[in-house]
Amino acid sequence: MSLLSEHTRPALGWRFRGSCRSAGEFYFFAPDDEPSHVRRRREAAAKRICASCPVLTECRTHAMLSRERHGVWGGLSERERRTRR
Ligand code: SF4
Repeated sequence: MSLLSEHTRPALGWRFRGSCRSAGEFYFFAPDDEPSHVRRRREAAAKRICASCPVLTECRTHAMLSRERHGVWGGLSERERRTRR
């Protein structure tokens, strides 16, 4: 069962074309108590995946507008999104 309602599904359809769909969440979201040097490497790997993603613009726009608090979205880390706001 999807958490997306029929109303929101069309607007978020880009998610189904994201390169991260096949890469797994490991690279994009931090586990609890992740050491900073591990975080840097993980986020760099996520950003490399984002760099060639066909929906980077849509993803980044969504993350900025909805103020996504966690994870790498559209090639930007949590800290980078906060800085840009
Ligand atoms: S830009 Fe990055 S986080 Fe967004 S859909 Fe593409 S691969 Fe996933």
